[in-house]
Formats: sequence, C-alpha cells, structure tokens
Amino acid sequence: MSNALSPAQRLTQLINTINEYNYQYYVLDNPTVPDAEYDRLMRELLDIEQTYPDLRSSDSPSQKVGGTALSAFEQVEHEVPMLSLDNAFDEQDMVAFEKRIKDRLKNTDKIGFSCEPKLDGLAVSILYENGKLVRAATRGDGRVGENITTNVRTIANVPLSLRGDSYPSRLEVRGEVIMTRAGFVTLNEAQINKGKKPFVNPRNAAAGSLRQLDPRITAGRPLLFYCYSLGLVENEQQPLDTTHSSRLKQLSEWGLPLSKELETATGAQECLEYFHKIGELRSQLSYDIDGVVFKVDDIEMQQALGFVARAPRWAIAHKFPAQEEISSLLDVEFQV
Ligand code: NAD
Repeated sequence: MSNALSPAQRLTQLINTINEYNYQYYVLDNPTVPDAEYDRLMRELLDIEQTYPDLRSSDSPSQKVGGTALSAFEQVEHEVPMLSLDNAFDEQDMVAFEKRIKDRLKNTDKIGFSCEPKLDGLAVSILYENGKLVRAATRGDGRVGENITTNVRTIANVPLSLRGDSYPSRLEVRGEVIMTRAGFVTLNEAQINKGKKPFVNPRNAAAGSLRQLDPRITAGRPLLFYCYSLGLVENEQQPLDTTHSSRLKQLSEWGLPLSKELETATGAQECLEYFHKIGELRSQLSYDIDGVVFKVDDIEMQQALGFVARAPRWAIAHKFPAQEEISSLLDVEFQV
C-alpha cells in the first residue's frame, strides 16, 4: 500500500481502478491488465476491508459479481443468482477452507469434495423446459444477464433436446463456454489472413464470439460448452441425487457435456493432490484452465453452509500461479 495514502484513500483508489477493469473485462470483453495484476489489486482491497471493516461499503467490488449486462441484448433475470467463487492462492488457503467448513458444520470428519478444472471461458446458464432448450443467458452481474439463446444454440456440443425422459420439466444447467486452443489458433490465422487483428487469448475470443448480435458470427467460431452445476430445478420426476458429483453424472446421461477431468476427493490433502495432478496435465489439455474448483459434494452440507455476498461458502477456486505477462497483453490489441 502506498505510504502517502490513508487506508480509506487507498481503498477509494482501488475501488475506482477495479471498477474500471471490471467494465473493460466483463462488459467490453476487452481487458487491459493481466488477471494476475487484477487479482493483486483485489487482494489488497480485501486486506484493507478485513483490517478496517467499517470502510467496507455495499457497493465495493468485493461484494459484487461480474459486470452489467449489455443493453444491446434482452435482459434475463436469473431465478437463482449466478455467483462467483472465492479464491485460494496457496495450500494454506485450501487447508483453511476445509477447516472453516468443518467448524461451521461442527463436523470432525474430512469433507468430501467434487474436484473440477476451472475452465477459462464465460459462465452461461441454459434453461431446458420439457427437455427443450428454451433460453440461454450470460451471468451478467449475477442477477441479470444477457439473453444469448440464438448464439448458444449454434454451439456444436450443446444439445437442443435432452436425452431420455427422466429429466425435470424445468432444468437450468450452468457451465462454461470455452474456445479450445486449437480452435483459437485457427481463428487467429483466419483473422490475420483477413487483415484483422488477432484475439489475445481463448477466453477473450470465446467471450467476444458469444456476445455477438449476429448469431451467424457465433456459429462460425469454434466454441464448446461444459456443465459444472445445476441452477433452477422444478418438477423433478425422480428425486435428484444427493451429491453434486452424481448430479453432474446425471446431466451427462441427459446428453449434457462434462469435462473429462472431474473427480472426487476426501479432505484438503486429496484436493491438493488433484490440484498438482491437473497442474501437470494443464499444458496437455485442449482448453485453457486457470485453476481448479473444489465444491463440497454433499448437497445438504452445501445448503447448510449457504452463501456470502458474492460466492458460496461451499466452493473455492484454487488458482494456478499466473502465467500471463503484462507485455504479452499490451502487445496485442484485443478485439471482439
Ligand atoms: P472467477 O473466474 O475467479 O470464478 C468464477 C467463475 O469461474 C464462474 O463464474 C465460472 O464462469 C468459472 N468456472 C470455471 N469452471 C468452473 C467450475 N468447474 N465450477 C464453477 N465455476 C467455474 O470469478 P469471476 O468473478 O468470474 O472473475 C474474477 C476473475 O476474473 C479474476 O480473478 C481475474 O482473474 C479475472 N478478471 C480479470 C480482469 C482483468 O482486467 N484482467 C477483470 C475482471 C476479472
């Protein structure tokens, strides 16, 4: 923290800077600083708010999810809010995460977790009614997103109809839309051949491709979708499974795509082993990931733990150390 500024002044400075970065990243799909720099500022802000709780305001970026929906799209109100995730940056954070859960649940046993790659793309909600895809939306600010149904319908691995007949009559699935690295390279070659500027990374390319007003542009982009949770569920024909990981398997039986790297673990140590294993696999995966996500697997435990302002208490994103350099970001101009 700068010595010249009081904590309140530095906080105001951080809030203004982070709000500007959020606007560039979430609304314009056009970040101007690397994620690692953004994460550093956010951690500094969280530290000040933790040390001086009276300085924390309800409109701080620490209390909010994402950005606002672009008015060019019809707005969609999420019946179940789409939240963000808290972060663990090292092994101690992971151990502390499990301890907080055990303390809160007054549970002495190790906790069972669903372990998932943290796909680096754009969060999307897809609603199926009577097995038919009826609506898709971005996360937006977590409460209101953008209606991108026609664009999502063009993604090759998104089923327009669910398989079988055992699905709930209203089922909202959530997941990440990503661009594979190979698709990104091909797209950038085409951009350069057309005399257009290349995209800076697959996440930026995926987000820009999905938020197009002309679905024919989206249809020509190499996008994929992978589910990681359920949102709204109504009129289930049979009780849903009692763990998050088995619910995901159920989604796959209904034809929805899942990442192949999903696993379960018991206790923080096994989670850390998964973190290292995926870290080693990372360069061989066909898509970018920026960490792994751990979620308490038992749904009743999730419900008992609940949420804080912008994230569930039962999940955490364990981020990989940053790879992105400022120079590489500034060298390439982003575009949608
Ligand atoms: P986040 O990306 O840290 O975590 C939440 C998101 O993770 C979810 O919305 C979902 O899209 C995604 N996700 C991927 N795999 C998932 C899985 N298996 N289960 C659940 N969610 C999964 O949080 P955020 O609020 O979307 O963004 C914050 C991050 O975005 C920052 O830490 C920073 O890295 C980046 N960011 C960068 C800038 C910038 O200017 N460079 C600005 C804003 C945000």
